[in-house]
Amino acid sequence: KKIKVGLMFGGRSGEHEVSLKSAASIAKTFNKDKYEIIPIGIAKDGKWYAPIDISGIENFSQFINTENQVTILPYPNENKLINIKDNTVVSKLDIVFPVLHGTFGEDGTIQGLLDLANIPYVGSGVLGSSVGMDKIAMKDIFAQHDLSQVKYIGVLRSEIERDIEKVIGEIRDYLEFPLFVKPANLGSSVGISKANSVLELKESLIEAGKYDRKIIIEEGLNVREIEVSVLGNDNPIVSLPGEVIPSNEFYDYKAKYIDNSSTLNIPAKIDEKVIYKIQELAKRAFLALDCAGLARVDFFICKDIGEIYLNEINTLPGFTSISMYPKLFEVTGIMMADLLENLISLGFARCDEKN
Ligand code: ADP
Ligand code: MG
Ligand code: MG
Repeated sequence: KKIKVGLMFGGRSGEHEVSLKSAASIAKTFNKDKYEIIPIGIAKDGKWYAPIDISGIENFSQFINTENQVTILPYPNENKLINIKDNTVVSKLDIVFPVLHGTFGEDGTIQGLLDLANIPYVGSGVLGSSVGMDKIAMKDIFAQHDLSQVKYIGVLRSEIERDIEKVIGEIRDYLEFPLFVKPANLGSSVGISKANSVLELKESLIEAGKYDRKIIIEEGLNVREIEVSVLGNDNPIVSLPGEVIPSNEFYDYKAKYIDNSSTLNIPAKIDEKVIYKIQELAKRAFLALDCAGLARVDFFICKDIGEIYLNEINTLPGFTSISMYPKLFEVTGIMMADLLENLISLGFARCDEKN
């Protein structure tokens, strides 16, 4: 009997479009002899679309229209998913793979819903997901675990609205330009800017405040960007590292998804000792946040002094066939179809452990 995998995609986040691409490549790669893929789309307005009749759905791409909004053809079934008393799709699922990046998906909200419904799922639980999403909470926990990071401060939008000069004064007392200003709960570089002056800092704070009520400000360094993929639950394995060479001044949204000219060096050309250090740090970071299943852990290596800094963890990293996460495992010797199979097993194992 085939395992029925509910593939959730789209979602109410700035990373909706990225999710469509990830989900499409995951749907294509799953071994169809073993798994039946049931698409569950979440539109930008939060409406859920799932097929009532799951037999005969083969062409996943039908579910994604050209305007990058989720649509479902030919069985629209709005808002039915959480109504598990009906004979709807959820009661027929063995496991869910939430391929949702960013808010309302990568942040513990879907994970909480699935826990409530007692449905196994791929990836981190509520805690790992939500802490991994909030850059301030994440960095505070990493600091507690003595993981080396760049200097940072968190501020609230309400403090900026009350007295921006005071906030800027506090930032300048503690941090040196250039600064990176980021919404705390986002990804894909949305809302992030680099500030080289007080004026730019002011603008950056206001810009980041459009996306989140919490903002993080970090010292900007001249860095190489190194990433590794993690797979496992309590005893995870770590891939070889890859390096991102952004096409812009930093790895912003445009460099990630629009220009298509950022270079990914897979694997990265770095010293074996440094690789080992990074892999150990990635494992510690993953366990510090109580992550599960998968994560991509991103590092900076300072170009001047060679120091390694942990940047962030992404609990639902981009998953297209050319994304860093699956590519890094490919060069480490795990092909994407096997990777997906592992993720499903890890999801079941974690659910068994909880119950
Ligand atoms: P996101 O979760 O949106 O990917 P990141 O914290 O990874 O946010 O920041 C996005 C990009 O901005 C990084 O990949 C890097 O290019 C640049 N960046 C962020 N913080 C720093 C920093 N402290 N120093 C140098 N570059 C940075
Ligand atoms: Mg991120
Ligand atoms: Mg990042």
